[in-house]
Amino acid sequence: MNPRLLEAVAGAKSVAVITGAGMSRESGIPTFRGEDGLWNNYRAEDLATPEAFHKDPLLVWQWYDWRRQIVCNAKPHAGHFAIADMETCFTEFLLITQNVDGLHIQAGSRKLIEIHGSIRRARCTRCEWRGELPDVGLESLPLHCKKCDALARPDVLWFGESYDEGLLSRAAEFLHASDLVWIVGSSGMVSVPVFLADIAARSGATLVDVNPEEAAFSHLCDITVRGTAGKDLPRIWNTVRPSTGV
Ligand code: NAD
Repeated sequence: MNPRLLEAVAGAKSVAVITGAGMSRESGIPTFRGEDGLWNNYRAEDLATPEAFHKDPLLVWQWYDWRRQIVCNAKPHAGHFAIADMETCFTEFLLITQNVDGLHIQAGSRKLIEIHGSIRRARCTRCEWRGELPDVGLESLPLHCKKCDALARPDVLWFGESYDEGLLSRAAEFLHASDLVWIVGSSGMVSVPVFLADIAARSGATLVDVNPEEAAFSHLCDITVRGTAGKDLPRIWNTVRPSTGV
């Protein structure tokens, strides 16, 4: 085992984990940019935008309905459980996930920020209504608000939209004070994870990158694991945890 990782885990007081779409790939949920990320020949970047929703809300809802059913049939894997276990080992812990699939919560993670929202919820485009969606396909699309009947939308952050400032500053503050940060399955093509990783790197944290491929922030990372979230992350964690006695 990498001695630097053992030392970083043993000495860590405040631990953060950032996860991207690659985290859930081995649960059967496609990443957007992977070759299995296409739907009816549409690219995600063409559908996950306010412009696409404005132009064709039915098409966008059909795509989310399809994705939500994949997500609802999926199960968290050993990597999701390893992250939930990490949370119990450190007093200060925060998981920041770009994923909208809810699998971290299903695996038991509680100290988390879903920075891109959740595909399992909808919200109104006019009033403050928000609601959970069923696991099965919706019968009548596009969905309308249960309160005021205006058009509802998936409760996710689309490309080109602004982040929730409260959530972002909570994440940034935490990363500023973290001493160990794991980044798992995130390409860094979305700029916020890179921004957060950069804050942690500048503050002197040890950064660990778990990804089968090089990512936009790999150069910031101190330890690189060219492996997967489902196999290599739990293998490493299950070795490191007993060796360090955390
Ligand atoms: P991304 O930027 O998070 O990139 C995916 C990364 O995962 C790539 O770097 C890839 O090399 C890596 N990867 C692939 N298989 C992996 C594995 N088994 N283990 C570890 N890493 C692996 O994601 P994206 O697909 O470009 O999506 C952009 C945004 O869309 C995300 O930030 C997210 O908000 C949303 N999205 C969410 C989900 C989900 O909730 N599961 C799925 C697709 C997209």
